[in-house]
Amino acid sequence: MAHLGAKIEFKDGKLLVPDNPVIPFIEGDGVGPDVWRAARRVIDAAVERAYRGSRKVAWQEVYAGDKGNERYGTPLPEETIEAIRQYIVGIKGPLTTPVGGGYRSLNVSLRQRLDLFACVRPVRYLSGTPSPVKRPELVDITVFRENTEDVYAGIEWSKGSPEAREIIDFLNARLSTSIRTDSGVGIKPISETATKRLVRMAMEYAIANHKKVVTLVHKGNIMKFTEGAFRDWGYEVIRDEFRDKVVFESELNGDVPPSDKVLVNDRIADSMFQQILLRPSEYSVLAVPNLIGDFISDALAAQVGGLGMAPGSNVGIPTAIFEATHGTAPKYAGQDKVNPSSLILSGAMMLDYLGWGEAASMIRKGVEKAILDKQVTYDLARQMEGSTLLKCSEFAEAVVERLVQT
Ligand code: NAP
Repeated sequence: MAHLGAKIEFKDGKLLVPDNPVIPFIEGDGVGPDVWRAARRVIDAAVERAYRGSRKVAWQEVYAGDKGNERYGTPLPEETIEAIRQYIVGIKGPLTTPVGGGYRSLNVSLRQRLDLFACVRPVRYLSGTPSPVKRPELVDITVFRENTEDVYAGIEWSKGSPEAREIIDFLNARLSTSIRTDSGVGIKPISETATKRLVRMAMEYAIANHKKVVTLVHKGNIMKFTEGAFRDWGYEVIRDEFRDKVVFESELNGDVPPSDKVLVNDRIADSMFQQILLRPSEYSVLAVPNLIGDFISDALAAQVGGLGMAPGSNVGIPTAIFEATHGTAPKYAGQDKVNPSSLILSGAMMLDYLGWGEAASMIRKGVEKAILDKQVTYDLARQMEGSTLLKCSEFAEAVVERLVQT
């Protein structure tokens, strides 16, 4: 497709971003077109204002989901995967995944095909947002969730299938287990390779962004050789590669950590779910295996106002896709109604990834200001007295009006 842009390059471990980068986008299904239109409007306006026209994204539409089916006869065309691989950075709206049967989750396929091994979700409170907790402003936590392994690897067999029977017979006969023969079977692989690259990415982020604490979250007391190993390999890579930049909780004896070091600790998952409610300010970066990471990302998002407000990304080296964290909300499709903040804020994350931080922080402040002024979509309006109810596109305009240089 013709576009007036240049390719982002990756050389010597660094992104080289031109002033007019080609960025592929997937509009998404259901409410996807509504939230994408709103997000694109805000991203373009922020870039224009922050750089006075000297920078501009050259958007390139690529197809997946319903549009992929219509144009290519498949929900995830090879052209789409190749475009994102080639252009390195992409952004997407939500995609439908039929439950049980049909095709595999498109999101999981995209992550696996492009080896986007970390799901990164910064969870931070924007003033004025209705929240179910008393002190939501204490939450400023970025979750690095492993994206390729664990029970999400998709290695499972249904009850009674030849594969399930074979595995159960093998385990019961050869390894003295006593698994019921009417069980479904799933495999939970967690590797040293995937753990170390995730923890390394979390550490590099913490150091680059002056974060105070990195916490390895796991259920290693029960699943010793998967979740427990995640903790051990996590500590190992930190000790081997970041020793001079960190202090371990076990070295402190209750003392305050030195201000120039990142504090590293670990928490068992069940206790961590209490900690994020009771003492969120003591945590800043979490590195977590896949399944627990899924739960904890959504639990944290709920504390600051729900999924409609939470940005997200799937990141590899160097490929990254920024995405709305909510689904397609089919009952609201085409109504110009839902909250586009998740995709707008994911756009801000994307701009940060490009090194266009001025535009990114303009967007975050613009969204916050619109909410503080009670100019909101239905989901927040129903929880805020005296608010003005806006459509999805009107909310985007309300944010654009509030984009100011800081
Ligand atoms: P959903 O689409 O996230 O919607 C569930 C509810 O969350 C909506 O009914 C709405 O609540 C609220 N909501 C979602 N997005 C919102 C927004 N932008 N603004 C305000 N409220 C919002 O979840 P689902 O109904 O379970 O899933 C629908 C489809 O999306 C499924 O096919 C699923 O697989 C897919 N999905 C895709 C992704 C992705 O592509 N990343 C992620 C999750 C789910 P109210 O009804 O209370 O207004």
